Amino acid sequence: MSGNCGASGCMGTGVTGAVNTNGDKELKRMQSGMVYNIQRMSIQDGPGMRTTVFLKGCPLHCLWCSNPESQSFLPQLLLFENLCGNCGKCAEACPHGAVTTDGEHWNRDLALCRNCGACAEVCPAKARVMSGKAMTVEEVMKVVSKDELFYANSGGGVTFGGGEPTGAGDFLIELLEACRTEGYHTCVDTCGHCAPGQFRKVLGLAELFLFDCKHMDPEQHRRLTGQDNSVILANLREVLRSGVPVRIRVPLMPGLNDSEENIAAVAAMLHEFGKHDVDVLPCHAFGRNKYMALGRELPAARAYEPEDLKEALDRFARHDLKVAIV
Ligand code: SF4
Ligand code: SF4
Repeated sequence: MSGNCGASGCMGTGVTGAVNTNGDKELKRMQSGMVYNIQRMSIQDGPGMRTTVFLKGCPLHCLWCSNPESQSFLPQLLLFENLCGNCGKCAEACPHGAVTTDGEHWNRDLALCRNCGACAEVCPAKARVMSGKAMTVEEVMKVVSKDELFYANSGGGVTFGGGEPTGAGDFLIELLEACRTEGYHTCVDTCGHCAPGQFRKVLGLAELFLFDCKHMDPEQHRRLTGQDNSVILANLREVLRSGVPVRIRVPLMPGLNDSEENIAAVAAMLHEFGKHDVDVLPCHAFGRNKYMALGRELPAARAYEPEDLKEALDRFARHDLKVAIV
């Protein structure tokens, strides 16, 4: 695997020049990458009716992440114990002796499991499912093209999310190029943690960004996500300067990033660029079953009480930011 995204891990396979039957060198789309979901008919990821392609892998590990299966760049087994019908087929299928039983439940030994997916293939109850599938650009475009009439009629298009889509390196670049060739509107939903050179390539192809702003303080950002925000803020400023449309999105977490000080800092930066609107995503408690299915501890984040949320939203208004809840 290669790719040149630097700050983010990459799953792309490298652009390759191929020789056709006439002996001419032509550039073929050779990238493949790890996709964990393709959601059709989405209305929340940009204008109009959209298809959202979720690319697996993220350089951040936010404390409140509601899609923990999106963080690893590799395929992963999820085990939903409540769906298990106790047939034992998974134990027969596992080549690594990783399926264990206490006589009542069929579990997996995380130390032995290689996430190969053999058990998921035979599980009749869908209690075992794999997250992440390697797909080529052509395979993704085949799915995306099914709804092109809806894009045209609704002013919609294709959104790339994750995980962190820029982490897919040149796989994302080729997907964006393919969409632009087909005339589909392109949107990238990003945390912004991407090497600037790679980010500039994305900037040249995306027609809209949904750009997360999690915390303005570098140390707080590191504490909440595992990385500081220096690259992120540099990329955000680049988007804001570029004139490419961007919606700033603040995932709002009670007691973690909703202080007066942080919201004032978000406002000050956006006002520099004449921006006075922001999308806010208040913390919710989704994703807990996925943490359990991955054998991980539950996230520390808690949902808002209504009065606390109102107070937090008032802070945006005090700093001249118009909020849309998404
Ligand atoms: S994913 Fe593979 S290694 Fe893991 S429990 Fe299933 S069959 Fe065994
Ligand atoms: S194959 Fe599925 S339903 Fe059967 S025991 Fe294993 S997890 Fe349960």
